[in-house]
Parts: sequence; structure tokens; C-alpha cells
Amino acid sequence: MNWVATTAALNLAKNLRDLGLKDETVLQAVANTPRELFLDAALEHKAYENTALPIGMGQTISQPYIVARMTELLLEHCPAKVLEIGTGSGYQSAILAQLVPELCTVERIKGLQIQARQRLKRLDLHNVSFKYGDGWKGWLNKGPFDAIIVTAAASTVPEALLTQLADNGVLIIPVGEASQQLLKVVRQGEKFSSKVVEIVRFVPLVNGELA
Ligand code: SAH
Repeated sequence: MNWVATTAALNLAKNLRDLGLKDETVLQAVANTPRELFLDAALEHKAYENTALPIGMGQTISQPYIVARMTELLLEHCPAKVLEIGTGSGYQSAILAQLVPELCTVERIKGLQIQARQRLKRLDLHNVSFKYGDGWKGWLNKGPFDAIIVTAAASTVPEALLTQLADNGVLIIPVGEASQQLLKVVRQGEKFSSKVVEIVRFVPLVNGELA
């Protein structure tokens, strides 16, 4: 990363610590990541508020709290190779790329994917592979993954993601429609155990045609 933490970014990290986030490596990544780079100029002044914001095409950049929370859950498993479904603005990808050796990320809206790729390059984050595709299918030839994070709400847990999870791997995924549960699913051999982490609100993981 070629960015120096600003006071605003440090304050955001402090707010997240006050909200109960504990992993200092995640908070450091939040402090080091210029969130305004992931937003339109008109919304830059809100970049360090702990809220989700629109990024165009009906999509949103996730709330920093939930980005940090999901990252913290995933890091508990010390993953080497991570798959993210829903690249969106690339903000969650930028946080992850600072904390794991290898990140693969899938997005179904081409325009968002192109912008995200440029932003990560600008931040000198080069350990990320981008795919334009349907996240319900995962990324078969890059797997298996030690961790998978889905940043859009699925109606059910996608079967392909379970099969692309390595043994002892973890899947962090919001499931549901109006009310969504953030699930943590852990694979042990052919068995999967699932735990509800908290109630969340994400845009839907879309079924079907690519945009
Ligand atoms: N992680 C993103 C969150 C973006 S919102 C960020 O930090 O900005 C969720 C994203 O999931 C949107 O960009 C949306 O286009 C994408 N998405 C929705 N359904 C998808 C699907 N089936 N496959 C891949 N991406 C999908």
C-alpha cells in the first residue's frame, strides 16, 4: 500500500474499535485505506462515516463496520487463499488484499469490476485476481479456497461455494431477503457446520444473466 493513514481514517478505525472490533491488523488496514477513492466525488465527504453508500448501478459500498467484522471472522482461520463474491467498489477487496496472501474476487457488473481493478492497482495491491462472472458459481479453477466471503445477500447458501471450500475452510455469507442473517459456515471433510453471527442488510446476490 502506498497510502499514509489520515486523521479521518484513523478516527474511523477508532470508532470500529469502540464498536467492539478487536483485530488490530484489520483496524490498521481500515486506517490505511483511503475510502474516498472508492466513491464518487459527490460522496467523498461521507467516506469516513460508518455507513453503506451508493456506488452506482443500484449497488452499495458496504458499511465499514461490517467490512471489518467479516474480515475479522475470516482471519480467525488464517486463510492463504480467499475468494470474495461481489467486488463492487473494491473497498472490501482492498482491505483483504492487505491482510491475506492471495485474493480472488468475482463481480457480475463489468463497469464496477473495471473501476475496482484500477483502484487496487493505484494502491499498489497486486495480489488480487479479478473475474467478471456469476458469483453463484464461485471460481472453479482457482479453488479450493481457505475462506470465501460473500458481500451480497443470497437466498440460500450457493452449493458451488461449499464445494470450492478447502477442508477446515470458512464461508462468511449473508443469507435471506428482507431480514438477513450473516452466517459463518465451516467445512470439516464433507460436513458443514453453520452459525449465525448477526443480522445484516446487503443488496441481493443476483440470480442469472450478467449485467
Ligand atoms: N464488497 C463490495 C460490496 C458491493 S455490493 C464493496 O466493498 O464495495 C455487492 C456487489 O455484489 C455488487 O457490486 C453486485 O453487483 C455484486 N453481485 C450481486 N450479485 C452477484 C453475482 N451473482 N455474482 C457476482 N457479483 C454479484
